[in-house]
Amino acid sequence: MPSETGTGAVDAACSAVLHRDLKLAPSRVVSSSGLYIEFDNGRRILDATGGAAVSCIGHGDERVIEAIAAQARTLDYCHTMFYSCPSAEDLCQQLIQSTGGQMARAVIVCSVQLKTRESITGSEAMEAAMKLCRQYFLELPTPEPSRTQFIARRESYHGTTLGALSVGGHAGRRKGYEPILMQNVSHVSPCNAYRNKPDAESVAEYVDRLAEELDAEFQRVGPQNVCAFIAETVVGAALGCVPAVEGYFKAVRAVCDRHGALLVLDEVMCGMGRTGTMHAWEQEGVVPDIQTVGKGLGGGYAPIAGVLVGHRVTRALEEGSGRFSHGHTYQAHPISCAAAAQVHRIIREEGLVDNVLDTGKYLGSLLKQRLGHHRHVGDVRGRGLFWGIEFVKDKASKTPFERELDVGMLVHQKGLDLTEDGGIMLYPGSGSVDGTLGDHILIAPPYNVTMSQIDLIVSLTVMAIEAAFRDLTGCLPN
Ligand code: PMP
Repeated sequence: MPSETGTGAVDAACSAVLHRDLKLAPSRVVSSSGLYIEFDNGRRILDATGGAAVSCIGHGDERVIEAIAAQARTLDYCHTMFYSCPSAEDLCQQLIQSTGGQMARAVIVCSVQLKTRESITGSEAMEAAMKLCRQYFLELPTPEPSRTQFIARRESYHGTTLGALSVGGHAGRRKGYEPILMQNVSHVSPCNAYRNKPDAESVAEYVDRLAEELDAEFQRVGPQNVCAFIAETVVGAALGCVPAVEGYFKAVRAVCDRHGALLVLDEVMCGMGRTGTMHAWEQEGVVPDIQTVGKGLGGGYAPIAGVLVGHRVTRALEEGSGRFSHGHTYQAHPISCAAAAQVHRIIREEGLVDNVLDTGKYLGSLLKQRLGHHRHVGDVRGRGLFWGIEFVKDKASKTPFERELDVGMLVHQKGLDLTEDGGIMLYPGSGSVDGTLGDHILIAPPYNVTMSQIDLIVSLTVMAIEAAFRDLTGCLPN
């Protein structure tokens, strides 16, 4: 789809980047400030999603920039396999305190893939989490080496590296790689009430059905073989901000406990304040054994992600070998840790998670009010400042659009191209390969967004959606 957003000219330095789309010139972002990013042709985009739900305090905060500079001047790098450093300790301390002591230790990962210049930190955190699960069962006083199997969910996303992709259930992103993915993974249904709970079924019955399905999967695999059940607390990129129904996580926690398996919650996208509590699991009445965090941890100021490790797993490692057999050259990088520690000091000191709750409630109600009745908006759902809009061809039957129309991407593109000098960033997600899910867009503004900025975001979102459906007229049923 042609776009006006790009700068057109791409010089040799830029084309050396192995970009996602090898045929298109990527638009070149040259600066950012607050809620906005600016391209080298002068156009300015309201970044209503903070990239991929990353920029949680907006762009260009001088206090974080100063913390990064100060850290770089003091200690740029040390190999944290052998040493610790104050910024890593500061960050891990803040992380553990933010769980009210429910978690015991944190592992921080910070790799950047230099070839593509894309950070892969969330995936790295998932890899570390999965290895921790395995190590836990090997370190128990009576080791359980048979536990090699992971159960995860369809229509989930846990990252792009092979291990994380294996537990992920995003059919589109797995496509082509299936034969080289881990074979010790199986998937059960996600908790997606809009798509999978018939009206006649109560929430409690739906929860029971999903818990029974999970239990049956444990039985099929052999409960003694299952290492962990892995799920996103609120599903991000794969479904578009889908929280579980009430009681779901308590029910799956009970299934894991019954069979002695670990519960791993992936909060790379939905965690660190995004949904209105520092950790999304706080709203579910459960505590995971292991949790991953990412995007909102560094707020975009540095590539960084982490694994929060609960007491059960920490104790086994402490009383066992006393070490975690895992490490990266750039893990717990002092500058990344300093950036993230400062981001989260700001969030705490300014009470920004409360602002997520207030502005998030307003965002959700305004989206429902302005778009709930739209004939091609099937569902508006979310939590905190994490909202998704799913598009359907037919509202009554919830029939998705044809995949080729790429409606989520079209809305995204219309948002970027809204006016000559500006637009809005809406994060697109595609429907399922088998045509059972609609395309969606995701909205995730920073935690310090104001009510009037929410008004603007919703107005621009509505304009982008209307522009997309104007384009599609002719392809649509009357
Ligand atoms: N888990 C979840 C829930 C995610 O949303 C993502 C990224 N979209 C990842 C893991 C992987 O993170 P990264 O892209 O930083 O590797």
